[in-house]
Amino acid sequence: MAKIAINIKEGKVEKESEIIIGIDLGTTNSLVAYIKDNTATAVKGADGKSTLVPSIIHFTEDGGIVVGDAAKEKLITDPQHTIYSVKRLMGKSYNDIESVEQYFGYKIIDEDAESLVKIRVKDKYYTPIELSAEILKELKRRIEEVLGATVRKAVITVPAYFNDSQRQATRDAGKLAGLDVLRIVNEPTAASLAYGINKNQEQAQTIAVYDLGGGTFDISILQIQDGIFEVLATNGDTFLGGDDFDRAIVDFWIKKNNLDTTGLAANKSLSQRIRLEAEKAKKTLSKADHFESIIENINCTITKDEFNSSIESLVQRTIDACKSALKDAALSVESIDHVVMVGGSTRVPLVRQNIATFFKQEVYDKLNPDEVVALGAAIQADVLAGNQKDVLLLDVTPLSLGIETVGGLIDVIIPRNSKVPTKVGRQYTTSVDGQKNLKIAVYQGERDLVADNRKLGEFILKDIPPMPAGLPKIDIHFILDADGILTVRATELRSNVKQEIQIKSQYGISEEEMAKMLIDSIQNAESDMKTRALLEARNEANNIILASEKFVVQNSTILTDEEKKRTLSLTNLLKEATKGTDKDVINRAIEDLNTYTSPLAHRAMDVNIANAIKGKKI
Ligand code: ADP
Ligand code: MG
Repeated sequence: MAKIAINIKEGKVEKESEIIIGIDLGTTNSLVAYIKDNTATAVKGADGKSTLVPSIIHFTEDGGIVVGDAAKEKLITDPQHTIYSVKRLMGKSYNDIESVEQYFGYKIIDEDAESLVKIRVKDKYYTPIELSAEILKELKRRIEEVLGATVRKAVITVPAYFNDSQRQATRDAGKLAGLDVLRIVNEPTAASLAYGINKNQEQAQTIAVYDLGGGTFDISILQIQDGIFEVLATNGDTFLGGDDFDRAIVDFWIKKNNLDTTGLAANKSLSQRIRLEAEKAKKTLSKADHFESIIENINCTITKDEFNSSIESLVQRTIDACKSALKDAALSVESIDHVVMVGGSTRVPLVRQNIATFFKQEVYDKLNPDEVVALGAAIQADVLAGNQKDVLLLDVTPLSLGIETVGGLIDVIIPRNSKVPTKVGRQYTTSVDGQKNLKIAVYQGERDLVADNRKLGEFILKDIPPMPAGLPKIDIHFILDADGILTVRATELRSNVKQEIQIKSQYGISEEEMAKMLIDSIQNAESDMKTRALLEARNEANNIILASEKFVVQNSTILTDEEKKRTLSLTNLLKEATKGTDKDVINRAIEDLNTYTSPLAHRAMDVNIANAIKGKKI
């Protein structure tokens, strides 16, 4: 399998190695690192202050976008136009996030529970991928300024528990930011690489990576053998982190000063100031024994002991999660060889002490905990560039493999640069009632539309027993062996109808052609993404149009004439919108229709249930 370097500006293949950057795309903070004079180094902003870029995006009044510290300042004054924690939404559908939606201060749109979430800012709809790309662009700008050159290749880290679609979303964000994402690396793996734990190759080692960030906590148990990292177990809490420590301090001050909490909540600017002061106090207490300050007659004083007792139970929750992870990996504390500390919140001394006590050993904490993941990503990048000879590199597949789905879009099943051999399965269903045959067309390439990719072959899964649309469960498995031979197997799981083909994915394609396919995909990332968004909006609109028309017919006795008329006229407006090419217009029309019909649907359901009960004899 080939390793390709491309010069995107000139559109030609380059053989010499160049800098590949490492990126930690975090929930709270993001940063970029590279190997400088043989040492992994995180890059500071132009002001020379910090390596951290707050993962916050602000949409300015004049239509601009700012990222980082400047955006963080707008969090309180302009929350509707300021997006944070977008990593929590990557690759997620509305179903996935419904229970936590109130956590976000901005508007998340999705009426179709199964498709991916969108975020509404003013009159535009953004995907988490597009928003993450803005953070990546900022990081790219930062490093390009330092290096005085364009960078186009990157390694990006993700949590170990990220699934396929979250990893794919991260890759897409990279592409949209003009980066060729050579590898997606697990954050705990990167942290272990930064400490060079993989270098001792004599025997297998078991490592616990404890990552306490701003709003999330992850514990991962890894095993390293012969340079290969395996995740044995992960656990954690997606709503536990340094922000909770800040809140604990605020609560302490509220009690100490006998403050009226409703009064404080109403005074946004004061409560924000106190919150920021609490973060300052927390950081001070990582070094000093007490913190003192006064804000508008409020005594903001706290000692280290007082702080420790306010966060004791929060820290205990992380230890409980460590216990569960060990249990899942069927390991005892004694079998953990090393413990690596990651995330800004592990600077809190009580956290380090309690974790060291629990694991009965000294923890690795010499490296900057909020940089360690990015530093490891930079090391992985350097390995890929061929500069670190003592680290094993596994074979990877050079181009993505996927199948055609509705609207001529490609659904990637094995992303490029996946380790081979590999086996990935995904489930699909039919879109028409009673559908008997399903065509499976296999494509290779990085573009969003199948028409722009290379067709490898197709076959038809025949004789599916007639079922309503959406009921068949069609499992499609891609099995890629070490020689690049792809087997595609389709099985309808309810009837066990099966079909498979074998394809030589590398057959008849040169390195130059592969390179060109990659260059095209990055150069067209933006227009591809727009086309994909438009086609997806149209698909969603078509489903909603059918559902609304059915709804009016089925509930004609429950709905008033006025309601029927308005539903149908909004449906017609949506139909009109789908004829255009503006996805935002379509999304707005979907939203208008849904907003109007959702109370009607609730009422219709209540009436239908009442009727059903009435009809039953007990
Ligand atoms: P994430 O991985 O979620 O992006 P980080 O690893 O950057 O987050 O951690 C951010 C958190 O670390 C914030 O809650 C911040 O207040 C906290 N933090 C940063 N420095 C310190 C410190 N010196 N002492 C205690 N907490 C700190
Ligand atoms: Mg992190």
